[in-house]
Amino acid sequence: MRVCTSCLSVGPPKKTGAGAVTWIVGVVFILLGLAVAWPLLLVVLVLGIYQSVSRKIVCAKCGAKDPIPLDTPRAQQMLAQAQGQQPRVG
Ligand SMILES: [Zn+2]
Repeated sequence: MRVCTSCLSVGPPKKTGAGAVTWIVGVVFILLGLAVAWPLLLVVLVLGIYQSVSRKIVCAKCGAKDPIPLDTPRAQQMLAQAQGQQPRVG
């Protein structure tokens, strides 16, 4: 569970970047690429690695980067402030 620093929503974060589907497509691409042109293999491989490395955790609601874990003092403080300012939604 994470707290978004932008919209203060609490929930499981979303991960961006390549998923398994991208890798499956990549493998098919590689097989085709081997038959046609081997440089394609390099392109797909680099793309796949890049997407894996660049995967980030974002807020599931607003997409803000790096929601903070719910059990941190900062998250608790933010939630307490938010509850004091406005009625809790959801
Ligand atoms: Zn958010």
